[in-house]
Amino acid sequence: MEFQDWSNGDEIKRQAQQISWDDFFGMGKSDKTIFLNNSRTRNPFHVLFSQQFNRRILDLICQVAEKAREIRKDRRDGRRFLRDLLFDVHALNFFAQPSSRTFLSFGTAQKYLGMDREDIRDPSISSEAKGESWFDSVRTFSAYADLLVLRHFDKDAVEKAAWVLNKSDRRIPVINGGSGPDQHPTQALLDIYTLYRAFGGKIDGKTIAMVGDLARGRTVRSLAYLMKNYEDMQLVFVAPERLKMKVDIKSFLLRHNIPFYETDDLREVIGEVDATYMTRIQDEHDKGGKKDEPAPVDPRFQFKFEYLDLMREHAVILHPLPKRDEIDLRVDDCGDPRVAYWDQERNGVYTRLALIATIFEKEQEILNF
Ligand code: ASP
Repeated sequence: MEFQDWSNGDEIKRQAQQISWDDFFGMGKSDKTIFLNNSRTRNPFHVLFSQQFNRRILDLICQVAEKAREIRKDRRDGRRFLRDLLFDVHALNFFAQPSSRTFLSFGTAQKYLGMDREDIRDPSISSEAKGESWFDSVRTFSAYADLLVLRHFDKDAVEKAAWVLNKSDRRIPVINGGSGPDQHPTQALLDIYTLYRAFGGKIDGKTIAMVGDLARGRTVRSLAYLMKNYEDMQLVFVAPERLKMKVDIKSFLLRHNIPFYETDDLREVIGEVDATYMTRIQDEHDKGGKKDEPAPVDPRFQFKFEYLDLMREHAVILHPLPKRDEIDLRVDDCGDPRVAYWDQERNGVYTRLALIATIFEKEQEILNF
């Protein structure tokens, strides 16, 4: 597909309605962005993957998140202003996989924006369980909502949703709240916002260590894709052999001249990086998802209490959460301002608020408040 004329919104719409699922699915991520972003504002409409985001949009999301945070400090007029922004928008949050933070954070952001919402957290009570196709389910959801937030174990479910919605009369936006082991773009956005706040808006030139289950951790995958939007970034992958970062991400980084190197011991690099992004070993993917008592984490991939002394003064520790024993418990409440993972949770609310406001073209109203 060669078509990339962003100025011709009607033609984009026509093509989006005609393209088959196979052709759409087969397109490269950056080629299909034209069918996902708003052709006028060029900001995301459907939010499926990190490759849709450029530096302008990332900076915008951070600025809107920051401004919304400030506005909420004004408990009367500020909060009322935000609550009026999308009072007429109804969200449907469909979460077919476990979720605490992402679910609560979308719900809270929607509440701050005055939106109505419906939640489905148990796919066994939706009609997919009766054999309805996913495409039909999505069309049905769209009859009752103005925004869909989806978390699904099928990595392509959210893309299928965007494709079928583009063809339908009710083309409502869909946001990926986690697609199997593939991507979690809104987590990556909130990670960026956390780095933005930690480094006074200056993310360029930083070195980030990603630690743990890099093969199946969708959050590190989405964050790695966003690195192309910043200057002079470096990544260090710290993972056990069987859980190393996959080749698709590595070739993406090579293509975009983002240096990365790999090691199997966090201690070796902890004193050299600006951010350490810890992750959980996702053993639910082992043994067909059956749960066992989790094996204790290998100490080489654990953040030990004494690493706080080795870390650079301005460096931060992030974690998408939930966590187990990959971070020494004493780090949690030690009061060190470099422990950023609890802040990440609040940052997620404002990032998702900023994203939803931008999708519905309310971002300037927030910035102008
Ligand atoms: N909360 C993150 C996710 O949904 C990370 C995790 O589950 O470990 O991908």
